[in-house]
Amino acid sequence: MSEQNRTLTEAIRFFADRQHCIDTVAAMRWIGGKPVCPNCGKMDHYWLATQARWKCKACAKQFSVKVGTVFEDSPLSLDKWLIALWMLVNCKNGISSYEVASTVGVTQKSAWFMLQRLRKVLQDSSNTKLDGTIEVDESFIGGKSRNMHRKRSNKVMARANKGKTVVIGLLERGGQVRTAVIPDRQKPLVQGIVRENVETGAEVITDEFGGYLGLDTDYAHNVINHAVQYVQGHVHTNGLENFWSLVKRSLGGTYVSVAPFHLFRYLDEQAFRWTWRSTKKRKLSNMERFAIALSQIAGKRLTFAEVTGQVSGAGV
Ligand SMILES: [Zn+2]
Repeated sequence: MSEQNRTLTEAIRFFADRQHCIDTVAAMRWIGGKPVCPNCGKMDHYWLATQARWKCKACAKQFSVKVGTVFEDSPLSLDKWLIALWMLVNCKNGISSYEVASTVGVTQKSAWFMLQRLRKVLQDSSNTKLDGTIEVDESFIGGKSRNMHRKRSNKVMARANKGKTVVIGLLERGGQVRTAVIPDRQKPLVQGIVRENVETGAEVITDEFGGYLGLDTDYAHNVINHAVQYVQGHVHTNGLENFWSLVKRSLGGTYVSVAPFHLFRYLDEQAFRWTWRSTKKRKLSNMERFAIALSQIAGKRLTFAEVTGQVSGAGV
């Protein structure tokens, strides 16, 4: 695919060709798209066209492009997986299993399992720490959503949030967002998450919540007191507020009801789309976002530069 932004219709047309599917996945998982035998590591093989598999000349084992990926054991064809992934990473407010089912041509139940498996792929497992300016804030998800301002007393908040799931988010300005579902808002837990994810010395912006008190020993900790104002110069948590509203919109609309147990998967999904909506320099195209997701399929995470290089190099 050469154009920057492909629509879903174009993606469907493109992946209708089996060879396009194979080439796209091969380009993302092997250097130069050249298959490597998963059994012996050699790169010399025959292509068995009818079976859409390679046969290794060295060890005589056969393998397909799906081997070692999340698609490996699936009886569903590659085009169905690729279109579902395309939809998942490019629909701003998320997609329902019903939409995927009708677009891809599987049952709603199959679509639900496909999406869960793909969300797992989108999970961020990078071990680098966030740096620069990081907004940190918690939110309450589930139950009846009520828009309450923080200036209400903690008691009122506690009552309003009963039965909701607590989540914490860390947003690196101009970078990525990370989230976690947490059992409570206790100080050791909240601060443990910050210290685990944020480089010492970075600027951390939070609201006046007491759980953040003491972060200034390791960070340039700036506090915006929401009882007084929401923005003071660059000190605000509006980036995260926007992120949470996207999460709530998708959960309230697209994903009619999400069990708390599954919530982290939906957060990962939204965090992936948020993080990869753009780089510091420019907006990403649907194809680039898709390619980044696909590069995670075989556990091979590429950098942005590598992905864009492979996308143009592979001619997809
Ligand atoms: Zn081999």
